[in-house]
Amino acid sequence: MKNIFIESSERSLSRSLIMKTDSIIQNLIRENIKNIQPYSSARDEFTETNSKLVFLDANENPFENGVNRYPDPQQKRIKEKLSEIKNIAVENILLGNGSDEVLDLIFRAFCEPNKDNIIILPPTYGMYKVLANINAVAIKEVELTTNFQPKTQTILLAANKQSKILFLCSPNNPTGNSFSRVQVEKILRQFRGIVVIDEAYIDFSEEESWLSRLEEFPNLIITQTMSKAYGMAGIRLGVCFASKEIINVLNSIKPPYNVNELTQQKAIECLENVDEIYKQAKIIVSDRKALKIELSTLNLVEEVYSSDANFLLVKVNNANKIYKELIEEGIVVRNRTNQPLCENCLRFTIGNTYGNEELIMALKYLDK
Ligand SMILES: *Cc1c(COP(=O)(O)O)cnc(C)c1O
Repeated sequence: MKNIFIESSERSLSRSLIMKTDSIIQNLIRENIKNIQPYSSARDEFTETNSKLVFLDANENPFENGVNRYPDPQQKRIKEKLSEIKNIAVENILLGNGSDEVLDLIFRAFCEPNKDNIIILPPTYGMYKVLANINAVAIKEVELTTNFQPKTQTILLAANKQSKILFLCSPNNPTGNSFSRVQVEKILRQFRGIVVIDEAYIDFSEEESWLSRLEEFPNLIITQTMSKAYGMAGIRLGVCFASKEIINVLNSIKPPYNVNELTQQKAIECLENVDEIYKQAKIIVSDRKALKIELSTLNLVEEVYSSDANFLLVKVNNANKIYKELIEEGIVVRNRTNQPLCENCLRFTIGNTYGNEELIMALKYLDK
């Protein structure tokens, strides 16, 4: 008797937790998006994998050339591969035309134009601001500390009812560091909107991804990309991990064929050989460590910040001057001197052996 009682009360407890989770998200979704009827595409109902069927439903050209059919709108094969690799259910994954599209979908699902706001933590990835401006969403900026960590209390105080999304980029671009797990967890527990953790650089990091904690936080969205460690910036494939509720909403507003057939094929090829990617990431990380040591010996270098990404943020004595001189030497880097907390900072992407050696040689020459 006792056991049955405990079991049933636990069951109803967990049911009420699920309902609570659902309603937290429901309350954040824009009113017009809640009941939207998504475009129903021909390929939603029948897919090409069932090749015995004759497809006369989508007005495609029947002459086969490899791409004459519309691509799978749900990118099932890529998601199954990712599900295996990342140890997360297919229904918790959404794919986009780069993470930039994923981020835009998140804005459109949760932010009412001319009413809601987002919170960003400069210096950080420039697209959050651009997307907010495109979507007519106000921006609250809370600068990082001088150690490039989030000011948790200030962020929570800055938030109001209209603060729908908070962007945490970790490892952060352009600073390269990861955010303190304690601070991120505090934010996840106390911020009442959606928290997006942008993990574009996670494969270069010694810190663990937040993916394994996804179930604990109904308001968490994690974005990753195939543009950096996976070496596929050209195919435009961004990945979003979140609760089923959030994924369903994003799915209902995404363009039906947002990931094209060539991208899908290339991505699957890449994910079938993911060990190669891990090897490359390891080489890039060890080259980053070597480059950091070399840069630190130069007089023109004032500080090389520690990095969990595939780039180094470097404070020099005169960023504008060195930036121009490097271009004259045929080397293009990113000048971040106008970003908050980044005065006189340049950002160096870790290249191949040749590129890294060229950079060091050029800087040694300028150091004289
Ligand atoms: C490079 C980068 C991305 C990747 O964007 P894609 O559209 O997937 O190429 C996302 N977030 C950050 C912080 C980045 O630096």
